[in-house]
Amino acid sequence: MIDVKKIRKDFPILERQVNGYPLVYFDNAATSQTPVQVIDTIVDYYKNYNANIHRGVHSLSQEATDAYEAARQKIQSHFNAAHPYEIIFTSGTTHSINIIASGYSELLKAGDELLVSALEHHSNIVPWQMLCERTGAILKVIPMDEQGVLILDELDKLLSDKTKLVFVNHVSNALGTVNPIAEIIEKVHAVGAEVLVDGAQASPHIQADVQSLNVDYYVTSAHKLCGPTGVGMLFGKQVALEKLPPYQGGGEMIAEVTFEKTTYAGLPHKFEAGTPNISGVIAFGAALDYMNSIGMENIAAYEEELLVHGTKELMKIPGLKIYGEAAHKTAVISFNVGAIHPYDIGSILDKMGIAVRTGHHCAQPIMDFYKIPGTVRASFSFYNTFEEIDLMVVALKKAITMLQ
Ligand SMILES: *Cc1c(COP(=O)(O)O)cnc(C)c1O
Repeated sequence: MIDVKKIRKDFPILERQVNGYPLVYFDNAATSQTPVQVIDTIVDYYKNYNANIHRGVHSLSQEATDAYEAARQKIQSHFNAAHPYEIIFTSGTTHSINIIASGYSELLKAGDELLVSALEHHSNIVPWQMLCERTGAILKVIPMDEQGVLILDELDKLLSDKTKLVFVNHVSNALGTVNPIAEIIEKVHAVGAEVLVDGAQASPHIQADVQSLNVDYYVTSAHKLCGPTGVGMLFGKQVALEKLPPYQGGGEMIAEVTFEKTTYAGLPHKFEAGTPNISGVIAFGAALDYMNSIGMENIAAYEEELLVHGTKELMKIPGLKIYGEAAHKTAVISFNVGAIHPYDIGSILDKMGIAVRTGHHCAQPIMDFYKIPGTVRASFSFYNTFEEIDLMVVALKKAITMLQ
């Protein structure tokens, strides 16, 4: 069970007012708020042991290196990777995907096929389009239905020995759909191709076990799960990562450098050129500790209750349509009311202290599918309450009266 009153005390920002109203923060799918435990971890680093890692013999450098590598082990254990060096630190999901796309440019030939799901965030579409332009590989789309669910029969038809890589999110940030990734991975492996799962939207709610999923690559961002911005991870199976060429050249990623030839370091350093976001990585570990202290299953169960309550109350509003009606969803509600532009609703809600997202949510193809410019998206986290949902419903009714 979740003690939401106690949890809210960990998030100083939840006490502030916005436009004279108490903040109701329902933009968790864009970024989550940060508990004091994570903020203190960052402050502690800069106050007490700020130093570059893996380099100095001095004590501060060793303390920073130990904390950085301890974070790698926490993340390895949270996602149940087989080895710590299968966790690569990046600046986030977008960066992780670009590392794989860049590496794949040396593994593909013209006519090879890549499959993208219809539910992807732009960061899991655009790097692949750029890659196809460079290599002559072909990008094909796994379609979705009206409910916002991928049509797996169509995946079966698309898969062939030409397929090299399939990329799909674990959870859609625009609709909240939880994709059946275990089933997808099995189907894709049957034709000898690899799977990249974008876990950015799943990891705040679902604990993925990369070994039991048997996934080749799994990527996420710390800022979606109570960590800081600008840091994330790329999990790759050892065999998959060893096949990929390095992404950036520089310090820290080499074994030996001469002007004639450079040899690269092994995993994970091959992909971690330059000074990383050291405090960010350590805080990423602290964020997972925080989530685990509440319990991922408790979080999921409570958020499911918020989703059920929010869906029920919003459905009572005449003319309101919810996009994304998968049986298995996280606590994301994307909606429109009649012909009112989502931006207008979002602006009025903000005047009443309520933060929701409006627009295409970096997933324009989904909006095109429904033939809408965008939606209003309310996304809940474990520190949100039923009362906040009720406040949003009241505010929304006021907004509708003003706009209709
Ligand atoms: C947020 C998000 C991203 C992008 O994450 P960044 O931290 O901006 O790189 C990608 N995919 C999904 C599903 C997301 O929710």
